[in-house]
Amino acid sequence: MSDPENLAGKGPGTRLVGAGRRPEWTGTGDQPAAVVSPPVWRASTHLYPDMTALRAGTSANADGRFYYGRRGAPTQWALAEALTQIEPGAAGTVLYPSGVAAIAAVLLSVLKPGDVLLMTDNAYDPSRVMARGILKDYGVETRWFDPTDVAAFEAALCERTTAVLLESPGSLTMEVQDVSAICALARARGITTILDNTWASPLGFAALAHGVDISVMSLTKHVGGHSDVMMGSASAGEALYQKLRRRAQMLGQVVSPDDAALVLRGLRTMGIRLERETASAVAIARWLEGRPEVARVLCPMLAGSPGHALWQRDFTGGCGLFSFVLKGGTSAARDAFIDALSLFGIGYSWGGFESLATPVDPTAMRTASPWPLPGMDEADRFGIRLAIGLEDVGDLIVDLENGFRAWNKV
Ligand SMILES: *Cc1c(COP(=O)(O)O)cnc(C)c1O
Repeated sequence: MSDPENLAGKGPGTRLVGAGRRPEWTGTGDQPAAVVSPPVWRASTHLYPDMTALRAGTSANADGRFYYGRRGAPTQWALAEALTQIEPGAAGTVLYPSGVAAIAAVLLSVLKPGDVLLMTDNAYDPSRVMARGILKDYGVETRWFDPTDVAAFEAALCERTTAVLLESPGSLTMEVQDVSAICALARARGITTILDNTWASPLGFAALAHGVDISVMSLTKHVGGHSDVMMGSASAGEALYQKLRRRAQMLGQVVSPDDAALVLRGLRTMGIRLERETASAVAIARWLEGRPEVARVLCPMLAGSPGHALWQRDFTGGCGLFSFVLKGGTSAARDAFIDALSLFGIGYSWGGFESLATPVDPTAMRTASPWPLPGMDEADRFGIRLAIGLEDVGDLIVDLENGFRAWNKV
């Protein structure tokens, strides 16, 4: 089915269906393409027919070669290749046991003692915690910059800057970054750019095509898509891919074939899930905008929302994740809002088939840019993040109406 050449130039839906389905991974040798999905190859030991083959297998550290479980087997290879096939410009993809593991391994692969890392101020909190903890311990200094201020980014560059971590939109506060402009400035100075592309996935934002060097995703979210598996990935061009691959082997980063098969299953339907979630999210965001209790809707997919112009310029799709800020109020009133919801689960993560709601309190996580955002009233600081799933919009709106009723009562 999927000779990689066959998928080149095809549409995203066609690529999602065919990606990673090489006949040698779905067949039995004499029967190529015997099954649809690559089977689960559970293996630590790989067997060699003789000593010559064992010696050759050990020294040839290349993709698709049996060696030992640390370099994966066809189930993991199929998922990695599928992710490469949906990321234009990627030469390869490395899998990690979680999104956080992917970010950590990527940073540890491109930074060394004495280096300065520039990190966007809206970065996922565990990325910040890494900077203050393990990176600091290893002699790497991190400086934060306002996500939407390219001039501030340029001013923050110094001789020791070797890497930049971007996240667009930020997964809490939804600022969209001018990724191309930032990457052009970095590339001219030989600085490696890393984008946490979990929100958009390659379907919504072609990271490498916009100048990013390494595109990282938490596969736990959209790709897995069913809230039952954790994994991460990093895709890059040839030189960085080889570096990441070797470093992952040194760090002993492997994913189980069972988990890889689950994520690969999620990948097949990611396109239609994202389309549906995007349409529902835009409808709900528009409805929220009309509510008197709402100060600001932070949804780049919605006309008039911060970041919408850049989103329209650079993105080919969205997802169900966005935030809104309530007018005034108290933390207790917001708790009452969220507690009154019954279709929205209360819990971390997003990108599953089910809707979720969590509070947004970024103050303690930002050092280079304000919250509330510029132009907003100081009193309007209690946010809620919604992950819109596959339920019906009308039902979700009724649920949110119950939330507003509870908010207004406190
Ligand atoms: C969830 C998330 C991660 C971390 O992924 P895990 O798989 O949970 O470790 C990284 N970045 C963003 C933007 C996320 O939302």
